[in-house]
Amino acid sequence: MSNVIAIDGPSGAGKSSVSRIVGERLGYLHVDSGALYRIMTWQCLANGVDTDSPEAICAFAGKVEIECRPEAGHIAYYVGGEAPGDRIRTPEINAHASKVAREKPVRDKVTALLKGMTQYGNLVVEGRDITTAVFPESPARFYLTASAEARARRRQKEEVEKGIANQSAEAVKASLLARDAIDSTRKYAPLKKADGALEIDSSDLTLEQVVETVMNALPKEWRA
Ligand code: C5P
Repeated sequence: MSNVIAIDGPSGAGKSSVSRIVGERLGYLHVDSGALYRIMTWQCLANGVDTDSPEAICAFAGKVEIECRPEAGHIAYYVGGEAPGDRIRTPEINAHASKVAREKPVRDKVTALLKGMTQYGNLVVEGRDITTAVFPESPARFYLTASAEARARRRQKEEVEKGIANQSAEAVKASLLARDAIDSTRKYAPLKKADGALEIDSSDLTLEQVVETVMNALPKEWRA
């Protein structure tokens, strides 16, 4: 059986950076589950699926084929042999992702892909429902959070640095809060802190401090 470290939390709480570093230190594969929902959203938009129509999303979900492959410390994703890259990180995808992610066939598909990844070894998986629905039995579950201002600041900096967009901090914050609202109130696997998960507020912590907190809370035999 693989070890799975599960990290949930709202957008911009620092899950990706923390998961990547923890994965590197332990030699665990980093799994970005949000990227799978972003790919589903990208494919909906690319194929003219109306994201305001649950029926259209549900009918389309089964048609998307995502290949998941372990590569240099993480699980990489391909659609039709192509890596999506930053095409799934745009403000447009941000605006539609939560509407796509709330539909059950989409969640079932992504959940099955995530569960199947344990065949590749030990994992650190980040998302919104990893501690509650995908790997609720993991002994290493975390809920990473931060103030809306801190989260928006980080996301905006990332967008500018990567050349993805040049939005104001206010616009980024509004987009984050809109997604949080849908993610935490949806019917299936809503974002919430799981009972027994360790909550870490990263607003006033450095990345290294968050990583240390996670590492110190792991089962002793998992620590490198
Ligand atoms: O983490 P990221 O911001 O890339 O996730 C994009 C969207 O995917 C989230 O806003 C959420 O709607 C959805 N998501 C989810 N469950 C996960 C991961 C992401 O519903 N485990």
